[in-house]
Amino acid sequence: MDICEIFYSLQGESTFAGLPCTFVRLSGCNLDCAWCDTQYAKTEVRPMSLEAIMDQVSSLECKLVEITGGEPLIQGQTPELINRLIKRGYQVLLETNGSQSIAAVDPACIRILDIKCPSSNESNSFHTDNFGLLTPTDEIKFVVGTREDYVFARTIIQKNLSRHPKARIHLSPVFGQITLESLTAWIMEDHLHARLSLQQHKLIWNPEQRGV
Ligand code: SF4
Repeated sequence: MDICEIFYSLQGESTFAGLPCTFVRLSGCNLDCAWCDTQYAKTEVRPMSLEAIMDQVSSLECKLVEITGGEPLIQGQTPELINRLIKRGYQVLLETNGSQSIAAVDPACIRILDIKCPSSNESNSFHTDNFGLLTPTDEIKFVVGTREDYVFARTIIQKNLSRHPKARIHLSPVFGQITLESLTAWIMEDHLHARLSLQQHKLIWNPEQRGV
């Protein structure tokens, strides 16, 4: 597989935020989001076998593992990597940009899907079949940079996600582009079926720092 980096840190997002976690960042992405904070994942590539990845993950001694990118589902072996981790007793999270079908990914893995909002310039990228594949443990994330983004997210939440657990639908501000007060006020005014989520790793460490 094409690997960008494997490291141990604190989970900064999702309902698992605040927990120690091993991250397996896969190389390559099919999108070009305006505010992408992991451009390096598109160019930094280290070929690794599934066995070598498993060995490195094992050496980090953490039972929570997130597969991220880039976009992990553009690599055909990603579902197999997830299967192997689950069989070895890991709790596995998959962070995907939402543009690829999650059908081949074991539902025992928590699938965390982005739905890209207009300010990303990729708002037509979501693979809409994924709405029908979500289980109650999967999570949805909207990264919100503007009021237009918020209205876009609200419309999808009300139309497509009203039956999905509220605690697993995240609105996350684009770091440095929108005030927390604004986003919080909009969520509260609308009694939105979603939660505010902050990127804890960017609050703890320098927002530009890698490997955290
Ligand atoms: S999907 Fe993620 S890695 Fe790909 S361009 Fe968007 S933010 Fe960057």
